[in-house]
Amino acid sequence: MNWNRRMHILVPAVALALFPLAATLPLGAQVPSTAMPTVDSTRSPAGDTTALAKEAEGWLADLIRIDTTNPPGNEQAAAKYIAGILTKEGINSEFLDLTPGRSALVARLRSAAMPDPSRALLLVAHMDVVGVDKSKWTVDPFAATIKDGYMYGRGSIDDKGMLAANLAAFIALKRSNARVDRDVIFLATADEEQGGDASIRVLIAKYWDKFAAGFALNEGGRVILKNGKVEYVAVQASEKVPVDVAVIARGPSGHASVPTKDNAVVHLAAAVEKIGAYTAPVHFTTIVRRYFEQLAPLEDDELAKWIRSLDTPDRGEHAQHVVSDANPLWNSMLRDTIAPTMLSAGVRANVIPSEARAMLNVRLLPSDTIDVLLAELTKLVNDPNIRFEVQPDAGLAAPPSSLESDFYATITKAASQEFSGAPVLPFLSAGATDSAQLRLHNVQAYGLSPFPMADEDARRMHADDERIPLASFDKGVDFLARIVAEFAATR
Ligand SMILES: [Zn+2]
Repeated sequence: MNWNRRMHILVPAVALALFPLAATLPLGAQVPSTAMPTVDSTRSPAGDTTALAKEAEGWLADLIRIDTTNPPGNEQAAAKYIAGILTKEGINSEFLDLTPGRSALVARLRSAAMPDPSRALLLVAHMDVVGVDKSKWTVDPFAATIKDGYMYGRGSIDDKGMLAANLAAFIALKRSNARVDRDVIFLATADEEQGGDASIRVLIAKYWDKFAAGFALNEGGRVILKNGKVEYVAVQASEKVPVDVAVIARGPSGHASVPTKDNAVVHLAAAVEKIGAYTAPVHFTTIVRRYFEQLAPLEDDELAKWIRSLDTPDRGEHAQHVVSDANPLWNSMLRDTIAPTMLSAGVRANVIPSEARAMLNVRLLPSDTIDVLLAELTKLVNDPNIRFEVQPDAGLAAPPSSLESDFYATITKAASQEFSGAPVLPFLSAGATDSAQLRLHNVQAYGLSPFPMADEDARRMHADDERIPLASFDKGVDFLARIVAEFAATR
């Protein structure tokens, strides 16, 4: 293994101009934190993916140029494009029609005439993207502009990057002519961002037998890049459950010139203030416990000390404060969270309204229930003029994926080989993904985004100037192809 070359691949491409790279990195970044694996153990069963990754960059650019902003989605156009690529590779695919203009696409590499769905591996990514405010972008969000080693575009990270990388890993397996000992299924889904009539919920209800699998790779995790080096790979094995709750205040309406104490607006404001100041208790789920156990040795001594004290009787409470304050994401992994997001009341400036409403976006740990939290909030608010109303279409609590499965072990091994010994940490994502639906169908689903990315880039998901470092994209293609070949190909 050429260490310098590997480092070169891992740093954001903006730094590549500053060759030779080793000399430009801070000293700490030049030294791998873990023992370097031997050359043999890093040889990927997928072979050299350099040319494949370049090809996949082209697919990603084309997919970005197909505007699949949801709503309306128009995913069928992207599905047709992908079907065309698969056809050229001699792979049949099938459109799974959902609503007019919206289809998913499925393709399969077979292991046997009578496949065993419980062994099958599903590669899933969504084709739709969130909207853009074009005036805030420095480039056209649907042009796939390449600048300073980045490809810009809506969906370049979420989730067309993974869509193109899944496609590459799938095609690599086909081209290798390897015998596969389990079916590998490629699935491009629709309507992930809105979860409506064309979403995976409907797809599963209508077409489950077309893509039933025991294992799945989806979005939802991250390859954490820090100081030009992969610190760890966060593999999502569980996710929080979104629930919207309306807070409704009632009072007598009347002339604003003669106010009374029971003004609904005032009661609502007081309730929202109390809820905003509330911190739910820490509940450790299996995944989160494992995450912090494995995180401690990667952090500096001071923080590691507090991470190790999280669940101790004497210092636990203080440790939970320190860790929650150190990173808002860690706070979200430890407890239920509540974010007030919308307010409405009143029709005229001089009319006291009889009702005022706030919307709370609650994110529950999958082990918690909304009833328990609302009982707590009712006590806290302590106001008979206030009531809570759980809104329809709450997310689903799914059991976590196993950390003992063969597939999790494969991902762990591949990550270590790909990223010079970087560990895999099981991750509970604060955001929801399609994987909850899969887990409820007995799929061991794991979330990745295989591209090593620094926070600064990862934060651009759903934001202005979303972009992916091309070197990270190429590396992610290699990582995914390695995982898929390792898990499915027989040697
Ligand atoms: Zn996404």
